[in-house]
Amino acid sequence: MRLFIPDLKKEEGKFIPFHVSIKLATGNIDDVVMDVRLEAAYVAQRVIIKGEWYVELEGECSRCLEKLTYPLKDSFYEEFIHLKSPADPKGYGEVNEPDKEERFVFKGDFLDLAEYFRQSFLMAQPLKMLCRTDCKGLCPVCGINKNNGECRCEQKGIDPRWAALEKLKGEL
Ligand SMILES: [Zn+2]
Ligand SMILES: [Zn+2]
Repeated sequence: MRLFIPDLKKEEGKFIPFHVSIKLATGNIDDVVMDVRLEAAYVAQRVIIKGEWYVELEGECSRCLEKLTYPLKDSFYEEFIHLKSPADPKGYGEVNEPDKEERFVFKGDFLDLAEYFRQSFLMAQPLKMLCRTDCKGLCPVCGINKNNGECRCEQKGIDPRWAALEKLKGEL
């Protein structure tokens, strides 16, 4: 999504609401659509954005492999410094070259937020998706989904080789 800066400047200091859907190019996942609600304001040569985004990830539980939709959301607050643009002879006034490690800067009439939200999503992405925190997973022996029922695989008792070892330990 792109914010058109002259529109924000017209109402400098006032937060203007936006509600947009953004298609994220995430590389490993296809077509993640992010729902973004944000407010943006132009204040003293900065664009301030704040709001929340929401994504529904389609995937499978890492333990039981059931299909699931995983809701992911985050809130954000960010400032982008508007540098004087060579394309705009009037410019927007002088701004000291900011510390690039800490500040976002941009030039021109548009502030493109696609990359910002893509990065936010990638950082928030879970390493593991679980259908529920106490998912019991699959039995490694028979493959049954243990959330749906029990199997008898783990009730067979100790492997005979270990039993022999236990006996030995008892004798020592
Ligand atoms: Zn599960
Ligand atoms: Zn089993």
